[in-house]
Amino acid sequence: MAKHIFVTGGVTSSLGKGIIGASLGKLLLARGYKVTIQKFDPYINVDPGTLNPYEHGECFVTDDGAETDLDLGHYERFLDISTSQANNVTTGRIYQTVISKERRGDYLGKTVQIIPHITNEIKRRFRLLEQKDNYDVIITELGGTVGDIESLPYLEALRQLKRELPKNDVLTIHLTLIPYLKTSHELKTKPTQHSVKELLHVGIQPDILACRTERPLTDDVREKLALFCNVRKQDVIEAIDAETIYDVPLLLQKENLDDIVIEKLNLPVKEKPDLTQWKEFITKLKSPKETVNIALVGKYIELMDSYKSIIESFIHAGAFNSCKVNIIPVKAEELADSTGKSLKNVQGILVAPGFGERGISGKLSAVKYARENKIPFLGICLGLQIAMIEFARNVLGLKNANSTEFDAKTAYPVIDLMENQVNLVNKGGTMRLGSYDCILKKDSKIADIYGELRIEERHRHRYEVNNKFLNQFEENDFFATGRNPKSNLVEVMELGSHPFFIGVQYHPEYKSRVIVPHPLFVSFIKAAVDFKNKK
Ligand code: GLN
Repeated sequence: MAKHIFVTGGVTSSLGKGIIGASLGKLLLARGYKVTIQKFDPYINVDPGTLNPYEHGECFVTDDGAETDLDLGHYERFLDISTSQANNVTTGRIYQTVISKERRGDYLGKTVQIIPHITNEIKRRFRLLEQKDNYDVIITELGGTVGDIESLPYLEALRQLKRELPKNDVLTIHLTLIPYLKTSHELKTKPTQHSVKELLHVGIQPDILACRTERPLTDDVREKLALFCNVRKQDVIEAIDAETIYDVPLLLQKENLDDIVIEKLNLPVKEKPDLTQWKEFITKLKSPKETVNIALVGKYIELMDSYKSIIESFIHAGAFNSCKVNIIPVKAEELADSTGKSLKNVQGILVAPGFGERGISGKLSAVKYARENKIPFLGICLGLQIAMIEFARNVLGLKNANSTEFDAKTAYPVIDLMENQVNLVNKGGTMRLGSYDCILKKDSKIADIYGELRIEERHRHRYEVNNKFLNQFEENDFFATGRNPKSNLVEVMELGSHPFFIGVQYHPEYKSRVIVPHPLFVSFIKAAVDFKNKK
């Protein structure tokens, strides 16, 4: 039977529960345990698909088409696993299930209440992945911070689960903050003491404290935390600010977190983890031989978490090429006509995914600049669509060509709403989502990049290349080189006479992993390096 590790958060949000969970998962996986990881989010949206990126950062999409929290991206990148809808649950989803059951009459005669109905549903979901595979360990990140009203049902469900399952089967790691006071040169433990009291108040004694800190924890501080928070001294784990998130597994290993967890869960002891590949990645990441500047043109750049997977993909691909990738965030709206100075010193331009009209003309300028100056260009989803619009207007001479997303009446709808989207009423979960096959054209650049002709990539869109105009594009050197075999939808476009000008309707960034960087990002960075050297 699977053992459960819960990660709760105290004192403040944004301490990196996702990274701690993913790092621990990585350590256990590397020791040979079968591990998965899931996240429970306390908000009422059924999923983050309807959230503006400014609210919650990127929406990460899984193979099965779930729109999920960006932490699932970290899980996949760290553990090299594919997650699914079952790995991300929100309060909205929990209530939706309970309320539909109530409507069906499943609770007939009963008053439906938070305890036991909501908490039972939470517990069922905590354990859902047990049935999916023979996991040794399921790590569950509880979103939010202890003390939040919204978190209470989750903590209550955890308390109950701890009570119901054998003692060694459920473990709680509380991630907390140890602030450093500059004036008195001291690390302070009081906020953590309070946060643990808050947990005790709802009946949970944490087993391990993971302490986020900017300075190393002194022996005294560890002693004090152990005493006041009722844990052993060795169960106080330092989680020091790291140079990169990818250092965290190694830092936690130094603190023996994996050994402590194995001991507490009474797992059969396996060998020390083999982290050779991981360490090689970090060595390459930290000793780049060159640097390239890549413009990331988007409309949400004030919150770069909106582009989390793209940024991480660049880190993986950069390390692979022994190259530091300097991402230059470019606010689409501020790009003046095609000569924006923000694009002067870049060796690659990525036009990001997005929705809605704001920033479109700036993105068009960026594409034009990349096309005319032969700067490596990668357009993702909306980025591909913009590349088509730019080409239609400026090369094919189709005046005011557009996507019907931005101009429903355009004479040249080179991008149009997909047929099965036309009559949809609900916004939530109704885009073309998740993994689809794509067949690449032989002898194309994209086939060369992937090294195979059948690929699978993940999607999240409503609009598509309009096949009616495709001939005109292809006659002018802009080719469809990847298509869905069933629907014939265009998935990849590439320009013939350009060193690297590729647009993809799918999101390659969702599939880049530390150990397996995505080939499209790898070759994009390589093209940027070549561009720099040629200059
Ligand atoms: N807004 C575009 C569409 O819905 C692009 C979506 C995206 O970039 N993810 O098709």
